[in-house]
Amino acid sequence: MTDLNQSASPSPLGKTVEKIDTLVVGAGQAGVAMSEHLGKLGIAHLVLERSRIAEAWRTDRWDSLVANGPVWHDRFPGLEFDDLPPDAFASKERIAAYFEDYAKKFNAPIRTGVEVKRVVRNADRAGFTVETSAGVIEANRVVAATGPFQKPVIPAIAPQDASINQLHSAAYRNPQQLPEGAVLVVGAGSSGVQIADELRRAGRKVYLSVGPHDRPPRSYRNRDFVWWLGVLGLWDMEAAQPGKEHVTIAVSGARGGETIDFRNLAHQGITLVGLTKSFSDGVASFQPDLVDNIARGDENYLSLLDAADAYIARNQLDLPEEPEARASYPDPACMTDPILELDLAAAGVTSIIWATGYSVDFSWLKVDAFDANGKPRHQRGVSSEPGVYFVGLPWLSRRGSTFIWGVWHDAKHVADHIATQHKYLDYRDASQRQAEPVVAAVQSAGAR
Ligand SMILES: Cc1cc2nc3c(=O)[nH]c(=O)nc-3n(C[C@H](O)[C@H](O)[C@H](O)COP(=O)(O)OP(=O)(O)OC[C@H]3O[C@@H](n4cnc5c(N)ncnc54)[C@H](O)[C@@H]3O)c2cc1C
Repeated sequence: MTDLNQSASPSPLGKTVEKIDTLVVGAGQAGVAMSEHLGKLGIAHLVLERSRIAEAWRTDRWDSLVANGPVWHDRFPGLEFDDLPPDAFASKERIAAYFEDYAKKFNAPIRTGVEVKRVVRNADRAGFTVETSAGVIEANRVVAATGPFQKPVIPAIAPQDASINQLHSAAYRNPQQLPEGAVLVVGAGSSGVQIADELRRAGRKVYLSVGPHDRPPRSYRNRDFVWWLGVLGLWDMEAAQPGKEHVTIAVSGARGGETIDFRNLAHQGITLVGLTKSFSDGVASFQPDLVDNIARGDENYLSLLDAADAYIARNQLDLPEEPEARASYPDPACMTDPILELDLAAAGVTSIIWATGYSVDFSWLKVDAFDANGKPRHQRGVSSEPGVYFVGLPWLSRRGSTFIWGVWHDAKHVADHIATQHKYLDYRDASQRQAEPVVAAVQSAGAR
């Protein structure tokens, strides 16, 4: 990629320091979207990426992962996946290639292989000093696009038992990677259920620890759930419903897209257990909440069917009825007689996979933009610290903010904010305009 728009000038110490108006840190989907919008608005910028474009899609995901949403939906407005039918689910490699192609399309000024180590606000002048693995850069603004899922989180309850192989879902690649034996998968969001199902299909005995979750139908009445969440305004929800902040969403695009149905997974051979509570002397204990968690997931599923039916009726859409979507498998034995304790050795469990989510890491961003818990303080990505911005964070503006299409819209808002700040700074009062007649004449000619 070319480096556009930056300049260099001598620093007070005599060294040449590169200068840029807006520095974007990270070239995943969030950084690429930022670059597109900043470029369109004529803002001089540079994107620094410590690895490669869309690195998370290349290396931080398991081998068989496909997108959770079909390609007509999980993309940016400016480019389609023209090698795939609209309802296909792109592989993780295809998605990485998509963002690479997208960045090439508008010649995004992305510099790869450069890590941002530290950003500090300048004490004696405007802007920020950015220390990178390839030298120092001065920037007027910094956009953190370093991702919502940076540090894998393994809860403190994890057993300190070296005989059990433990890994986070971010490190899981395929069943062959695990030692022989049964597997306990902790967490039943999109990652946990897909990994558990893959292991079961590979012939492993699997225990799946299921907490509170939403589970939309993959599709209903000929429309994918991403369409339903869109037309029902659910992607645009601005905050999680109170009490549902930690509710994960269980969906899958595997094998052309399937509804996650925990009873069906159990009938296929997976043993469901409740939330994992603790480990002691080789025994795992689970909360007695499996039936409740599944019942609340069913409620969520059925509420979406109801809302979809009401939407179809209200808008007089000609979409085929699907009464079978309301049928349920009988409760499996692991629900009627839940397991509350599991002796791991006796059950042959040799691995635990923690599909327990991620946290962010802004240790490089040494500015006053965080609350007491280290959470970024911002409004739709515009930080409380002037000149600092965030994109790609969960619920940045809405439920869709971490998703491919959602981050594109959030990045547009952030870029618009930066352009508006430029307009203020470009303002000249009458006396300044008189003092700059030539510049003003050129500007007004340009405006015409
Ligand atoms: C298993 C999984 C499946 C998902 N599936 C989907 C899906 O199907 N559809 C969907 O819409 N979303 C999906 N998501 C959510 C989201 O789209 C991805 O997490 C996506 O990678 C987030 O993009 P991002 O650009 O915000 O962050 P990232 O992709 O994480 O990009 C951040 C970039 O910043 C770089 N970086 C970090 N720190 C620095 C630094 N200090 N200096 C320089 N560079 C730095 C990283 O190398 C990285 O390339 C999924 C997430 C996960 C975990």
